[in-house]
Amino acid sequence: MTQEKNQPENTPFDDSKYAMETHLIYGKVVSTKWDYSHHVVAPLTSSVIFRLNSAERGAEGFTEFAHTPAVGTENAPIYIYDRLGEPNKDMLEENLAYIEKGETAVTFSTGMGAISGILAVLTKSGDEIVAHKSLYGCTYSLLNFWYPRYNILTRHVDMTVLENIRAAITPRTRVVYFESPSNPTLDIMDIPAIRVLVDEFNTDRSESEKIHIVVDNTFATPYCQRPLELGAHFVLHSLTKGIGGFGTDMGGVVIGKKHYRDMLLMVRKDFGAVLGAKAAWTVMTYGLPTLHLRISRQVANAQKIAEFLEKHPKVEYVNYPGLPGHKFHEIAKREMIDFNGNFAPGSLIFFVVKGKDLEAMKENGRRVMNFAADNAYTLTLAVSLGHTRTLVEHPASMTHSAMPARELLDAGIHPGGIRLAIGLEHPDDLIMDLEKCLSVI
Ligand SMILES: *Cc1c(COP(=O)(O)O)cnc(C)c1O
Repeated sequence: MTQEKNQPENTPFDDSKYAMETHLIYGKVVSTKWDYSHHVVAPLTSSVIFRLNSAERGAEGFTEFAHTPAVGTENAPIYIYDRLGEPNKDMLEENLAYIEKGETAVTFSTGMGAISGILAVLTKSGDEIVAHKSLYGCTYSLLNFWYPRYNILTRHVDMTVLENIRAAITPRTRVVYFESPSNPTLDIMDIPAIRVLVDEFNTDRSESEKIHIVVDNTFATPYCQRPLELGAHFVLHSLTKGIGGFGTDMGGVVIGKKHYRDMLLMVRKDFGAVLGAKAAWTVMTYGLPTLHLRISRQVANAQKIAEFLEKHPKVEYVNYPGLPGHKFHEIAKREMIDFNGNFAPGSLIFFVVKGKDLEAMKENGRRVMNFAADNAYTLTLAVSLGHTRTLVEHPASMTHSAMPARELLDAGIHPGGIRLAIGLEHPDDLIMDLEKCLSVI
């Protein structure tokens, strides 16, 4: 990054005339210790406001905001106020766009900020969204609790069946939205086939009526899957998960065509879900450079653990796209591919514990959780995923404990279903602890 010259050439100030209180705010007026271009690690700049050398420069900065220049004509940015833009976010965004093979990336304060940001850009009152039947809980709530207030309707269908999508699309549809692998059962969508279908509808639609495919790629991370290459129009992430990787900061990002950058910047400026500079710096400094090491280890661990669970007598079934018996194994093999062309089926596993009936399965899941909480060194009862530690959850006795087993199943949540978000531990240790936990049922 090249930083504009930081201080005036010949300072008119005499430092010695000012009080210590003032010095504590300004430090030395002229410092030679400010040169970003030679830093090996980008500095955490963390400044909400930026000094403008002249009124004209201020005017220029406001004019340039959200007017992304054509490639090759970019100037050094004029920063004004963090909510409009600042260096840490901009540097992170360049890297995120690159890694997802997209033209541009705009970060947000959280994954939910990114989701509401792109949907605000693509929809308005009267429009419709077609979404997969199961989604991250807050995304479901956004679409079904908040959006009806703005007269935006969502139709949920099982998107693993292409014809369901075709049947749900109307002249008002503007967005086809899904996660792949989906939460929590790890359904895999056929992204290129969905693109062909959407293109069919788009051929006779005007620009403002076109349907856009938006994919939440949080579970896979760009290490395992790049949906833009597969045909998606936009990809988004919760940076809080695998990309951030250490569970220290929240963040989100939308990646897509450069044409949409200005609208995304406008939405971020006015709705206000701005990624903090410190969080941007953490993701840029620790998250992205270690992504391939962390996720490749998690994928290797997950494959071993899925194979162990599949053979276990206390386990009813295992959903992991890396298992040849998985319903979507063949699609996963085409879509989930790492940077070097190897199959990379992700770090999440969903498995169901046995029981004589649905209530017994729910109870067994609860018992496994409680035993793990007290006795398993390598299994942490917690939400989230993509962490250094393996995280385990039993939705039926945790997030959805109030629902009876039968109702849970009807809502697509198996009462005996446990979600494992695999971490970086030695796989034998995880297997040892899982064996211990399953022995209590
Ligand atoms: C966590 C998560 C989100 C939301 O991200 P936040 O950073 O928590 O706002 C969205 N989608 C998926 C699949 C997630 O796992």
